[in-house]
Amino acid sequence: MKLSKLTDNQEGIIVKVLGYGAFRKRITEMGFVKGQKVTVIKNAPLKDPVEYEIMGYQISLRRSEAELIEVITLEEASQLKEQNFNGTIVSDLLKKSAQKQGKKISVAFVGNPNAGKTTLFNSASGAREHVGNYSGVTVDAKYAKVKQNDYQFDITDLPGTYSLTAYSPEELFVRTQILEQKPDVVVNVIDASNLERNLYLTTQLIDMDIKVVIALNMYDELQYKGAKFNYKQLAEMIGIPIIPTVASKNEGITELFDKIIDVYEEKDPIVRHIHINYGELIEPAIAKLQNLIREDKILTVKASPRFLAVKLLENDSTINHLIADSNNGTAILNTAKAEIKEIEKATEEVCETVITDAKYGFISGALKETYEECAVKRMRKSTIIDTFLTHKLFGFPIFFMFMFLTFYATFNLGAYPMDWIEAGVGMLGDLVENAMAEGPLKDLIKDGIIGGVGGVIVFLPNILILFFFISFMEDTGYMARAAFIMDKLMHKIGLHGKSFIPLIMGFGCNVPALMATRTLQNKNDRLLTMMIVPFMSCSARLPVYILIIGTFFPKYESFMLFGVYLLGIVLAVLFAKIFKASFFKAKEAPFVMELPPYRMPTLKTTLLHMWNKGSQYLKKMGGVILVASIIIWALGYFPQNVEYSKNYDQLIAQVENNTQLAKSEKETQINRLNNNKLEERQEKSYIGKIGHFIAPVFYPLGFDWKMTVSILTGVAAKEIVVSSMGVLYQEGGDVDETSTNLRTKLKQQTFTGEYRTGQKVFTTASALAFLIFILIYFPCVAVIAAVAKEASWKWAGFVAFYTTALAWIIGFMIYQLLNIL
Ligand code: GDP
Ligand code: MG
Repeated sequence: MKLSKLTDNQEGIIVKVLGYGAFRKRITEMGFVKGQKVTVIKNAPLKDPVEYEIMGYQISLRRSEAELIEVITLEEASQLKEQNFNGTIVSDLLKKSAQKQGKKISVAFVGNPNAGKTTLFNSASGAREHVGNYSGVTVDAKYAKVKQNDYQFDITDLPGTYSLTAYSPEELFVRTQILEQKPDVVVNVIDASNLERNLYLTTQLIDMDIKVVIALNMYDELQYKGAKFNYKQLAEMIGIPIIPTVASKNEGITELFDKIIDVYEEKDPIVRHIHINYGELIEPAIAKLQNLIREDKILTVKASPRFLAVKLLENDSTINHLIADSNNGTAILNTAKAEIKEIEKATEEVCETVITDAKYGFISGALKETYEECAVKRMRKSTIIDTFLTHKLFGFPIFFMFMFLTFYATFNLGAYPMDWIEAGVGMLGDLVENAMAEGPLKDLIKDGIIGGVGGVIVFLPNILILFFFISFMEDTGYMARAAFIMDKLMHKIGLHGKSFIPLIMGFGCNVPALMATRTLQNKNDRLLTMMIVPFMSCSARLPVYILIIGTFFPKYESFMLFGVYLLGIVLAVLFAKIFKASFFKAKEAPFVMELPPYRMPTLKTTLLHMWNKGSQYLKKMGGVILVASIIIWALGYFPQNVEYSKNYDQLIAQVENNTQLAKSEKETQINRLNNNKLEERQEKSYIGKIGHFIAPVFYPLGFDWKMTVSILTGVAAKEIVVSSMGVLYQEGGDVDETSTNLRTKLKQQTFTGEYRTGQKVFTTASALAFLIFILIYFPCVAVIAAVAKEASWKWAGFVAFYTTALAWIIGFMIYQLLNIL
């Protein structure tokens, strides 16, 4: 419990003091030490400060300060039910519980992308989080609990960042986590093979004056390179303990956690807070700002004044906002502005650059004394490979070959497990069919749930295979190269090379593709990419393509299929340009594209990585698809008491009793009657009524009401279009896209009802219009939900609307033009 939450006369034992170093020091000097008893004298709800008694003295603390002190009360202590505790003295119980509580350490992992944070996190926790050799893979924080030497660690794996400025969502996120969650110890994971760049983040942690332990990861690579690094000396120089680790081989993890305990308990002699010297221009400015900041006691509780001062001079927008809220805000901001101006005048540089330069100066100075690269520089392996893979001429064909291989494997290898899963789903359906009594519940489970979700699950193998290849390319470091060689091309359509990866993933499933846009730093790039991802033909659309193309364009099958995919890409390019010119005009700042070194990932790593993506897909799809399937099933199932135009049951009975008919003839007739009954049911169900109602909207595209209903059901997931057509065109719901019966039915289908009665529904024109319509219109519920989550509901609504409108317009043009020709 926080000290600020205690009420009058309540007492508690101090468990720990949070906050940055100087703050902790001041509070401890006042007597608020771990294990001490505090009693509240007066804590009026709205009053600040609050009065406390500690060690016989009366001391008042600000509420904001008391919020950073963790205590344990008698009630909490007795709730913890210390089983082995037999003593009767109350204060003993409290002390003991406080000690126990004090052994919970919250730890956050920060570091550059690819430094091995997630690998370390997994090694430490035994978790199976996804690791990858591609920047920006960790986008959310992951949590786990670890135990070592009676201590319990709550560890958090944060996204990779190069810095803690407010330029990208990741950076801001990590900074906010450190400043607001106030982890007891921050583990700064550093890639030993790239010290200079990795230590940049460390300099910022130093400014923040928090408890840090450095995990010098990839120590194996440093040794392999033959470099000499006196990390112990560096640790002493910067006042932060450094522990070498090889996360991928589980080495150094125990030592790391031992060191975390030492630092937490303030038992490590080398720990001290140092100041990076920013030079004679910046330092006085920092001092001036620090003094102003210290005048506002609330600010000083939030973060180290020196850190805030440095950030102000960097003109950090988030910190500017924070300061603006302070009582002293205007004065501080004005001073900062004036100081920046003066510094910039004197140096003819942006103030932020001056600070950055000072930081790098600090780093190279520190490394000069402690680090020695091997004398003979080997030609780096990566450089040799790169001359081929990112070659101006060979780069593209090699890339397309990899892509082709990926898709080839996705569809060809995927076909086998797909059959098994289909058989499994079928068996499950049969099981329910036999085991359950007739009734709506059985129909719901069999047709609504198993049918609906089963239809999606069959694509899992394809998606996993696709993800396997993508993960492999990410892990080896090739994906970063792909983005690199596509960069120029992508810039032509106003996008960045990094957008290319989400777009490629979109061929598998748009949902993870949308999630993958998180790797884009610029918000506009991200939104723009999200807007065009739906044009990438996801694997769910494939069954519809196969059905329509196989039935109506059998001669040009592969050409047509390629054409549909290509049309999607062309539309994506076109709309990227249109959106860039209208919504996202702002020019983005150029930035470095990382080329991580090539690494051969282990099979385990890649499989984990694949599963991580796959399970995200399952989770996202599972919920939405399930609900949507049930809704669509219900709309087709109700109302139950349909008035049939004929008495089908009687007709079927008549056929059955007709002794003159041969057995096979009987079956055909009964089948036909059953199908007619099913069709009439569908037509008179709610979905049929909705379809009939909307159908006129699609008459100009040459669709009948059954196609309209299929389109409506496809909103849940596009593969459902095929099963809906199966039902409506009287082949039953469990058809697949290659069913010859369904294909024949489609070809024979004529319009019924008031519109164009008797004419053939599917002509070249209407089939083509339908095919293209399926490609473009409303992606699917899961995609819209994902856009809403990643961007906002407004953008989600926009995607839903513009894709559908566009589909209608293009479908209309195709149908009308082909009819004229
Ligand atoms: P993160 O971005 O910081 O989370 O980095 P990851 O944990 O995803 O790791 C990036 C890559 O480095 C993966 O391919 C890991 O297998 C690899 N890796 C992690 N730690 C080590 C290490 O200590 N030595 C070596 N050689 N490779 C490592
Ligand atoms: Mg990671």
